[in-house]
Amino acid sequence: MANFRTRFAPSPTGALHLGHAFAAAEVRAAADAAGGEAYLRIENIDLTRCTPAFEAGLVADLDWLGLAWDGPVRRQSEHFNAYLAVVSDLRERGLVYRCFRTRPEIVSTFPSGCVLSGDLPAQEERRRLAAGDPFVWRLSLEAARREIGDLMFSAMSFEVEQDGRSQTIRAEPDLHGDIALTRKDSPVAYHLAATHDDAVQGMTHVIRGQDLAEAPHIQVVLQTLMGWPQPVYRHHRLVLGPDGRRLSKTHKSQAIAALRAAGRTPSDVFAMAAA
Ligand code: GLU
Repeated sequence: MANFRTRFAPSPTGALHLGHAFAAAEVRAAADAAGGEAYLRIENIDLTRCTPAFEAGLVADLDWLGLAWDGPVRRQSEHFNAYLAVVSDLRERGLVYRCFRTRPEIVSTFPSGCVLSGDLPAQEERRRLAAGDPFVWRLSLEAARREIGDLMFSAMSFEVEQDGRSQTIRAEPDLHGDIALTRKDSPVAYHLAATHDDAVQGMTHVIRGQDLAEAPHIQVVLQTLMGWPQPVYRHHRLVLGPDGRRLSKTHKSQAIAALRAAGRTPSDVFAMAAA
């Protein structure tokens, strides 16, 4: 296995924009600096929002930017069975429960927005199952704590590298509640798919935006339960739009294809992203 392997993992839910270009370049540069590898992973678990056209656009834009990738491209939509096998495993170990709650139900029951031991009374669960109501599988933190052991659970930590310095951070999964492993509109939810793939792809480093700086607190629980290796984390800054907000699909002028059509070169694009 490579000493340093990382990945750029976009979700093709819209056009690639300056923020993606910046993130992709950060990932590529980190791998190059370490003499390691950078993979491209298409995180298309949301089959309603991720389209083949967005994916093709994304690949073409990365090509145009001159960013090349090592190893095979992984598409998450081709691995649903692998994610479901993890859910089955956790289910056999009594670590997950069905959550039928809708978003408004969750907000009214759990003002913090995070579900904790939110399983319904058995009778209510049977009723909703019989009614064919949609549900997601949630990981019970209480059951996970029992399985891992109180001491080990409280000692879980992860490593974050920032400006060349490394820091060990104690994981606080309780702040995030019982996370959903599946979705009502997709066979798998983000944390499970990403953490699973980082493990099976042998990622030594996970480099992604500040917006996901909290994710390791959750992902560490899955790694501990599944015996998956822990990567080192780095969180890069986010590129903001002219309105000072994080770039999104609504910033059409910042789309790579639009900048390219307006005559900008790849180095113009990187300079804009770095500004
Ligand atoms: N697919 C996620 C995104 O587009 C990134 C996930 C990750 O890097 O772990 O924001």
